[in-house]
Amino acid sequence: MSKIILTGDRPTGRLHVGHYVGSLKRRVELQNSGEFDKIFIMIADAQALTDNADNPEKIRQNVIEVALDYLSVGLDPAKSNLFIQSQISELTELTFFYMNLVTVSRLQRNPTVKAEIQMRNFEASIPVGFFTYPISQASDITAFKATTVPVGEDQLPMLEQTKEIVRKFNSVYGETLVEPEILLPDNEACLRLPGTDGKAKMSKSLGNCIYLSDTEEDVRNKVMSMYTDPDHIKITDPGKIEGNTVFTYLDAFSKPEHFAEFLPEYNNLDELKEHYQRGGLGDVKVKKFLNNVLQDELSPIRKRRAEFEKDIPEVYNILKKGSDIAREAAASTLSEVKRAMKINYFEDEALIKEQSEKYSR
Ligand code: ATP
Ligand code: MG
Repeated sequence: MSKIILTGDRPTGRLHVGHYVGSLKRRVELQNSGEFDKIFIMIADAQALTDNADNPEKIRQNVIEVALDYLSVGLDPAKSNLFIQSQISELTELTFFYMNLVTVSRLQRNPTVKAEIQMRNFEASIPVGFFTYPISQASDITAFKATTVPVGEDQLPMLEQTKEIVRKFNSVYGETLVEPEILLPDNEACLRLPGTDGKAKMSKSLGNCIYLSDTEEDVRNKVMSMYTDPDHIKITDPGKIEGNTVFTYLDAFSKPEHFAEFLPEYNNLDELKEHYQRGGLGDVKVKKFLNNVLQDELSPIRKRRAEFEKDIPEVYNILKKGSDIAREAAASTLSEVKRAMKINYFEDEALIKEQSEKYSR
C-alpha cells in the first residue's frame, strides 16, 4: 500500500512555534525521509471560514502568510503538494455524503470541538459548518487516501472521528476508504505547546504566540516577558519547573549543543533545571538562554522567508500547481466513493441493462 501524508493548517494567522514543534518540523523530516509516496499539505481556508464567515478578508490575507511559512520551514514544492482546500470542490461533495454516517450526538461529544465552541463563545449560536468541521476533516484525509497524519494532540479526536467514518463507510458500501494513523510529536512538550502567557495552548486565536516570521527583536521581547514561576521572586528562591513556560520551551527546543554554545557552565537541561529548583538561578539568565536557542532555530527560517517574499506570484503559482494535483487525486477517490454508493448511474451499465429488461418484459 502507498504511504501518503495529508495534513494542514487554517489560514487564520501566521504560523507560530507551536505549529512548528507540533507539526511543521515533523513534516519536513518526513518529506526528506523519502519514505512517502505522496505528500499533501493543505491550507484549510474553507475550514477557517466555518468560524470566520463574516471575515473572509482575514482568511484571504493569511493564505499567502501560511504558504510563506511552509516554504520558509523547508517544505519543498518538488516533494510536497501545497494546495488550497476551497479549490478542491470534491472535498465538499465527500463531506455531504459522510454527513449521513455521523450523528449529531457523536459530534457533540468531540472534546476539541467542545473546547473550541467555548473559546469562541459559540454556545448559543454555533454555525452548522463549524459544528460539522470534523466531518469535513475526514473528507480531507480520506480524499487523498492518507495513511499518515502528522498533527498536534488537539487533532486526536478528529482522527478518531475520521476512522469511525472510514469503518462505517467501508462496512456499508464496501472496502473503499483507507484508515489513517495520527503521528504525534514524540517530545511531550511539543504535543501542545503552551502560549507565552502560560495558557494551555499557543493559539493564533489567543494572541499568545511567537510567530515563525517574528523579527529577532520581537522574539527577544516576547521571551523576556514570558510567564515563569510566579513564586520565584528572588534569585535565591527555589523555583518550579512544572507549568513554567520557559522550561517547557526549553524542553521543546533546546539541543545538547546549545549548552556548549550559549551556556557552557551547564552540560545539559537537567543540570539547568536542577539548579533552578535548588535556588540561585535567576529567570533572566534562563530567558536569555531560551532566546539564543529560539533565534538559532528561527534565523534560517526567517532568511528563507525573506527570499520567497521577493516573488509572491511564484508562491501563488506553487499553490495553483499543488491544487491541480490535489484535485486530480480527490476526484479519483470521489468517483470510487460514488461507485461504492451506487450513485454512478451513467457508468453503471448493469443498472441500465437491469432497468431496460424490467421494462421490456
Ligand atoms: P486556530 O486558533 O485558528 O484554530 P491554531 O493555532 O489552533 O489556529 P490550527 O491551524 O488549528 O492552528 O492547527 C494546525 C496544526 O498545528 C494542527 O496540527 C495542530 O495540532 C497544531 N498545533 C496548533 N497549535 C499547537 C500547539 N500550541 N502545540 C502543538 N501543536 C499545535
Ligand atoms: Mg486550531
